[in-house]
Amino acid sequence: MDNTADSLLSEGKLLPVMEEFYTLQGEGFNTGQAAYFIRIGGCDVGCSWCDIRESWDARLYPPVNTDEVIARAVQYPAKAVVITGGEPLNYNLGYLSQGLRKRGIKIFIETSGSQPLSGTPDWICLSPKKNSPPLDDFFLKADELKVIIRDADDFIWAEENMKKVRMGCRLYLQPEWSQRNTTMPLIISYIKQNPRWVISLQSHKYMRIP
Ligand code: SF4
Repeated sequence: MDNTADSLLSEGKLLPVMEEFYTLQGEGFNTGQAAYFIRIGGCDVGCSWCDIRESWDARLYPPVNTDEVIARAVQYPAKAVVITGGEPLNYNLGYLSQGLRKRGIKIFIETSGSQPLSGTPDWICLSPKKNSPPLDDFFLKADELKVIIRDADDFIWAEENMKKVRMGCRLYLQPEWSQRNTTMPLIISYIKQNPRWVISLQSHKYMRIP
């Protein structure tokens, strides 16, 4: 990449978008809402159970013009965008966020919190990962804490993170998809005992939509 492209990337005017699609949010607080998804390539968190490994290598996704991404997003009836990844905050999301906001689009971001926040999302879903825990700032900013449960030890991880979030942050436990048959009963039982938590299912997978 030449210097101009490098500088446009660092300004967020180009972004390595992996895919864009209009669908329903399947997870967490905004479940069921229509939204335009923008998936940014690149992640170095390395979760062993990651179901979107093809997102990891940003070099596979040649940077695209952010203005064009914004123009596509505003064409849909739902005035909401989910920015996800990969780890979308590997890139400067300020320009994208400003452009969407100017056009009246609400911005929801899904992040591990491992990189500094850029842009001004309306909703931050913090999904902490043990390999690369969130920066402290995110615990005060998160609107939603969504912890992926793969085994019983993950409840301890969930509680550790829960202690750091601000009052009012919504708390979700979500079964890791490949282990859902084993972990679902554990999560149900845990939430009955610890009702601050709510279950989040990857409902888009049950609905067979992206
Ligand atoms: Fe996959 Fe998300 Fe973990 Fe990155 S943070 S490895 S995209 S699950």
